Amino acid sequence: MSVQVLAAKMAEVELKDVPATSATTPTMEPMVKTGDTSPGFLTPNTKMPQASAMKRTDPQQNGGEAFVNRDGTVAEAPRLKKIQFADQKQEFNKRPTKIGRRSLSRSISQSSTDSYGSAASYTDSSDDETSPRDKQQKNSKGNGDFCIKNIKQADFGRREIEIAEQEMPALMALRKRAQGEKPLAGAKVVGCTHITAQTAVLMETLTALGAQCRWAACNIYSTQNEVAAALAEGGFSVFAWKGESEDDFWWCIDRCVNLEGWQPNMILDDGGDLTHWIYKKYPNMFKKIKGIVEESVTGVHRLYQLSKAGKLCVPAMNVNDSVTKQKFDNLYCCRESILDGLKRTTDVMFGGKQVVVCGYGEVGKGCCAALKAMGSIVYVTEIDPICALQACMDGFRLVKLNEVIRQVDIVITCTGNKNVVVREYLDRMKNGCIVCNMGHSNTEIDVASLRTPELTWERVRSQVDHVIWPDGKRIVLLAEGRLLNLSCSTVPTFVLSITATTQALALIELYNAPEGRYKQDVYLLPKKMDEYVASLHLPTFDAHLTELSDEQAKYLGLNKNGPFKPNYYR
Ligand code: NAD
Repeated sequence: MSVQVLAAKMAEVELKDVPATSATTPTMEPMVKTGDTSPGFLTPNTKMPQASAMKRTDPQQNGGEAFVNRDGTVAEAPRLKKIQFADQKQEFNKRPTKIGRRSLSRSISQSSTDSYGSAASYTDSSDDETSPRDKQQKNSKGNGDFCIKNIKQADFGRREIEIAEQEMPALMALRKRAQGEKPLAGAKVVGCTHITAQTAVLMETLTALGAQCRWAACNIYSTQNEVAAALAEGGFSVFAWKGESEDDFWWCIDRCVNLEGWQPNMILDDGGDLTHWIYKKYPNMFKKIKGIVEESVTGVHRLYQLSKAGKLCVPAMNVNDSVTKQKFDNLYCCRESILDGLKRTTDVMFGGKQVVVCGYGEVGKGCCAALKAMGSIVYVTEIDPICALQACMDGFRLVKLNEVIRQVDIVITCTGNKNVVVREYLDRMKNGCIVCNMGHSNTEIDVASLRTPELTWERVRSQVDHVIWPDGKRIVLLAEGRLLNLSCSTVPTFVLSITATTQALALIELYNAPEGRYKQDVYLLPKKMDEYVASLHLPTFDAHLTELSDEQAKYLGLNKNGPFKPNYYR
């Protein structure tokens, strides 16, 4: 099947057979045929559902904004957290050069300097200190269009990638479906994400779907060097290593996009730094770019800012607010990784410990569930009465922080807010209290307030500090208040599979969309596509999905093949 035919099929939106009652639901033909729970996006009868336009109507609101769908209906917006950007006003003034290594005047985003996945990374003790920028390396085929730590680590990286493949069933299914049908043929994807085994599986899937990829890291600490080596050995142009300087960071991004004879036509970003760089340095590139897919809260926030200022010149997909991202990445990922992060850093026993979790959103719910299951006594603080009531109904004691701060053994913040744990509380904590953050930014715990002369800081392990008061009391501060799980442990591959599949589908949709379908705006993937991503992961569990009968579908006013919930359902 030709790309054009495939693209046309994927892009086509089926309007018939849709019940009149589904006014706010996208009106699309199912991607997964009745009775077929196998991946279906490349089958001849399936079409890619169209994303719904998302316009911010009240940027002051912290979540719950009203958004206008493409069909004019008003839908509840995804919950977007207010993010404080330390670097918001900064601009790039200087371009890094290989020789100069000048520092750039615009700092990379906070998330770019949070370490991530480091615990899983293979470390080669023979690594020299030479900067990868000063090394000439080639892969076994003589290709040198990459810059990584050490190409000799490729075999280790390949094993890491193969392990990740086991837990990324949907991407592997997309690859199988892609045999002979290449929905990304001609796509030149420039990516800036964490360079981990899971990203490698995504990159290799995009290639199987027909794309060419060039990639940089979105975080200076998160690159798994051996994985980058495996990618370079496999022919990918990867520019990343663990422990880049800020100057290296921008240099790597620049190497991805600044190449004679190659221009990207799709962007896959995590944090918005790549998008920002292209805007500032190579704005003409946007003439050829068909769309941006953005994963993170931070990057999405930046896109909305661009859109609001009328400066967004291509369509963008907000993957961060997809149901499958939020409900799985935030909830289940944190449910699994909070214990891992705490254990690796402190070896704490959870049974019987008193823990206070600040914020009972998706992340907070995940943390509370995990700790409760381990026998901890869990208290919750909340500002939102609905989430507070949920906490109560789930069996947690809702308290104000000052009511329990003297007695708790562990304090965990996950509000997305700032100054939730301030010096006053830190002063009142008991000896040995563990303090950590699971929210995006290191704003939740007022760490700066602990940098005073009377307090002594003692580094006891990587990412673990004891802060000691004059009377000998010490608190255990983890990752200096940065994201605990991303800084100190790993996150489950299966969850990343869900997000990566959503990213792949968003790229396919934007790349194949006919002229005019998407305007220069930020779009959210439709419920139908979320349902499709979920369906691709069900076979892992040998799960058997119930099908609506014709009678039941009519009774509920639904298309038998979905979407099963309106777009605003979260
Ligand atoms: P959410 O909006 O669902 O939940 C945050 C909750 O905190 C809300 O219910 C809000 O009412 C509450 N809150 C706000 N200020 C508060 C305060 N001062 N005291 C008590 N409660 C307060 O968001 P979420 O999806 O749970 O994400 C929370 C944070 O975690 C965000 O910063 C997000 O980017 C981050 N996140 C982290 C991970 C991870 O792996 N660690 C994964 C996803 C998201």
